[in-house]
Amino acid sequence: MQRIDIMANDLRTWLELHCLTPAAVSTVLNDLTPEGRAAQTPSNATTLSAKDAWALAMEALTKKFPGNAQSIERAAHAIELECVAEGEDVQQPFTLDRSPDKAPLVSIRYSVSAADILAVAHEFGHAVQLTLGGGRFIPPIQREIAAFLSELALLEYSATAHSPIAADLQAAHSADDLVYLHADATQLARALGDPGTPYSYRWNYTIARVLAAKSYDGQGADTLWNTFLGKEGITRLMATDRRKHVPHKTENYLLPAPKPDRDHPAINRYRSLGMMALLDIDYWKGESEREIGDYYAALRSHMQDKSALIAFAEDMKPIGYAIWERHPESSGDIRITRQAAPFGHHFELQKRLRSRLSEAGTVMSIHARSAREVQAAW
Ligand SMILES: [Zn+2]
Repeated sequence: MQRIDIMANDLRTWLELHCLTPAAVSTVLNDLTPEGRAAQTPSNATTLSAKDAWALAMEALTKKFPGNAQSIERAAHAIELECVAEGEDVQQPFTLDRSPDKAPLVSIRYSVSAADILAVAHEFGHAVQLTLGGGRFIPPIQREIAAFLSELALLEYSATAHSPIAADLQAAHSADDLVYLHADATQLARALGDPGTPYSYRWNYTIARVLAAKSYDGQGADTLWNTFLGKEGITRLMATDRRKHVPHKTENYLLPAPKPDRDHPAINRYRSLGMMALLDIDYWKGESEREIGDYYAALRSHMQDKSALIAFAEDMKPIGYAIWERHPESSGDIRITRQAAPFGHHFELQKRLRSRLSEAGTVMSIHARSAREVQAAW
């Protein structure tokens, strides 16, 4: 579902609306890993009608939430479903909120493919959430979470029931991941550098996709139902992340750096190297797994040609570092090859980098283990 949010008109208001910080969003983006599962193409061998797909989405959601089956069914029957044949002049599927007096209207374009069945489940999730929400304002990320939870319920239901379309649905879902977790994530990462970036509804998808998957796997039935209804705050959903990189800043236990020693520049270089190594030990994306000799040689050469930056907090504790390369052909282009901010200071590190490299031409960022192998850094 795509609709205009009067509450957000740029990155800053979008973050405020969801009580998010750039660092928290950045953490979600940095944790994305490309899974490359979309190689399998859905065969589209389904014969389900749109009404059947709607009924299937309802069955799947009631199976997931047996304790709330009645409210789901009641909502499903109240919702008005409009199917548009392919070729008719409509945009994406959408769910129209006609509250408070009327149940939502769901409009879908349906051409009998696995992707269409997923889209029906998606809109079904939106419409049920809206119907049961009682007119309460639900921020867009929480709306998309409900839609994605409904998709996941359909996947689980069809897999458990050994449905002949289960594999196709899974393949269509993986193909969608490439959009939500790659293209949309890239757009969001780019926007993060500037609080004034004009709002795009697509920013909601990446965060919602990640949080829906995490909640679906990790939450108990009652909490998951509240998440579906949009009653669990985004910050809380992110905080339940048990992985190492929680969005809240982790305590920085490193010691403050002493003032540079003017008489002994070699000591300063050792200190810088030591700080980068300590930051890398806490940052999991690869460097601490390298041979120590290679690691040392690489950092030493960055220090020699002044293509490294360590960022400090006000108390002079190192909070992150970055290294970059100049493009061999075009001297104005810079590729940032590593940004390590183990305590959640990605945004601060980006700011320092930005002011340091602001004279440069195009600045590209390489993410060795994320879906976004190359992206414009700002
Ligand atoms: Zn949606």
